[in-house]
Amino acid sequence: MQPVTISQALAAAYSTINKIDAILLLQHVLIVNHAFLLTYPDQMLTAQQVEKFSSLVQQRIKGLPVAYLMGERAFFDLTLKVTEAVLIPRPETELLVEWALKLIPSDEFCNVLDLGTGSGAIAISIARHRPQAQVVAVDLSPTAVDVCRRNADILKVANLNAINGNWFDELSGEKFDLIVSNPPYVAEDDPHLLQGDLQFEPRIALSAGEHGMACITHIINAAPDYLSKEGWLLLEHGYDQAEACRKLLRDMDFSNICSYPDLAGIMRVSGGQLNLSI
Ligand code: GLN
Repeated sequence: MQPVTISQALAAAYSTINKIDAILLLQHVLIVNHAFLLTYPDQMLTAQQVEKFSSLVQQRIKGLPVAYLMGERAFFDLTLKVTEAVLIPRPETELLVEWALKLIPSDEFCNVLDLGTGSGAIAISIARHRPQAQVVAVDLSPTAVDVCRRNADILKVANLNAINGNWFDELSGEKFDLIVSNPPYVAEDDPHLLQGDLQFEPRIALSAGEHGMACITHIINAAPDYLSKEGWLLLEHGYDQAEACRKLLRDMDFSNICSYPDLAGIMRVSGGQLNLSI
């Protein structure tokens, strides 16, 4: 095999895959940051590194998500391990974390529940920023629960309990001050499910019946039984589901109902507070 420098490896990869993907994959193989690639373009790769990088580029050409190839993804201020068992954390979900952090006092106990936690992106971000809070993270997939626990361990998060269960099923009698969720909400016939990263992600974490509203409806209808007095429920949802979410929240007598847009200006999270008079 011909000796290859960093800049040659990148130039070859740029002809087949997206530039940023190539940079991320080479950083991953060399275990360096972007500044290193820019500073040492003439550094030689070992034969092993060339082989590993070429194999990752080939897999990327076939469409495999960069996050799965690297085994990690940046979210909020963390880097989280991800596997094919979990949804790849997305920037729009950071909005849900920001809203949750505004509602959780930094100096008092707060009982938080994250439904459908996947990699633990939301639950772990909240737990790390609010050490006084206790976070329960639930997922139907035992493999996802393992990924969440592993992330919590690596990030030294002790105030989080990840459990295997179907939405509220394992939580009978428990009350939370805040419930958050990024449930599956893509309609089952949405053509996007067959495109890009989505086709490699767990379908169970992405799509739901009733035009994507089945899990959201279940969560909103059941949440009042699991919320403490004046507790909040916050949900991420699809680009066209904000109004339907707000209606469901109204039907369950929530107060202070509102929605917030993501950076693209699309209403992306909605929530409300359990009716104050109950
Ligand atoms: N935001 C994701 C997407 O549309 C879906 C995530 C989800 O279903 N919770 O790609």
